[in-house]
Amino acid sequence: MPKHIGIPRAISYYNNYPFYYGFFKSLGIEVILSDKTTAKTINDGSKYVVSDTCLPIKVYVGHVINLLDKGCDAIFVPSLQSTGYKINNCSKVRGLPEIIRNILPQNFTMIEPTLDKTENIDLKNFCKQTANAFDICDEQKIKKAIDEGFKVYNSFMEMTKAGVCYKEALDNAINGKTVKKTIDIVKPISVAIMAHGYNLFDEKISLNLIKKLEKMNVKVYTSLNVSFDEAIKSIDEIGEVQYWANEPELTGTAAYYLLNKKVDGIIALSAFGCGPDSLMADEIYYHCKERRVPFIHITIDEHSGEAGFVTRIEAFIDMLLRKKRNSIIKNADLNKKSVAPVINIKKEKILTTSIK
Ligand code: SF4
Repeated sequence: MPKHIGIPRAISYYNNYPFYYGFFKSLGIEVILSDKTTAKTINDGSKYVVSDTCLPIKVYVGHVINLLDKGCDAIFVPSLQSTGYKINNCSKVRGLPEIIRNILPQNFTMIEPTLDKTENIDLKNFCKQTANAFDICDEQKIKKAIDEGFKVYNSFMEMTKAGVCYKEALDNAINGKTVKKTIDIVKPISVAIMAHGYNLFDEKISLNLIKKLEKMNVKVYTSLNVSFDEAIKSIDEIGEVQYWANEPELTGTAAYYLLNKKVDGIIALSAFGCGPDSLMADEIYYHCKERRVPFIHITIDEHSGEAGFVTRIEAFIDMLLRKKRNSIIKNADLNKKSVAPVINIKKEKILTTSIK
């Protein structure tokens, strides 16, 4: 039986790794992570799948290849079917074990537990299947590992909800630390990004979108700043019904910020050719239009160029600034000082100024 497990740094890694880490550590199983995504990861993955497969799946395959190159012979490829009754993942995520089995030579052990709440296969069962693959059948030991998984996961979520960035929160959570951020810095412009964690927090796939926006002095909100319950409630309040498993981090996040009127615009980031995302983005576009909140949908694939991407982001932020400035000037009380943002994107800095 293997004493280690390789976890591809893709797809469910971005949402679930804190849980996986705590769970496997408690069972005494060493976790080997694939390296961060590079152009080689994408090229390697692309060679094995048909060209119109979405980028995150190509990246996933590239990460499995990276683990095999590192000599890892037991790889975690969970079969994540549904996360609630008839709340499904997309067919490509559901079929990941079959995809990997059919395209890569089978010289490794695939640990492929199923999570399918529609069929009453819940997280406890999923964890049991995983532990059993390592010949661990002690119920108490498995229960303790689930608790440890949640401990790391909850600490990670607590930090991101409080505004700690993804990487810092992840590093701290797996090192058993909790840091608190109490100051929420106000910036001239704020946006919410609706995107899968595996698109947004993979810096290669997202072309570092969060950092680019922060360099423009834009406050960025993501799904990690919204709790699961708040996202679900927001989907309901905006009049939509959850169908996709990832809907809380896309529709739910955008709906939460639209309802709370907390942002100046919404950015949808999705992979070219993604069916579920195009439906969710369309729904949110409709609600943004109704509320007169600017919305942009950016699609990415392995050919996405940095220059065109930056131009679109800059143009969108520039438009948000002009809109906000005009509205502040229009509503300004001439007897009081108001603050309107000055447009200065070229220098990647946005200043504020007083107007009378
Ligand atoms: S949800 Fe979209 S991006 Fe994600 S795996 Fe499915 S098709 Fe690809």
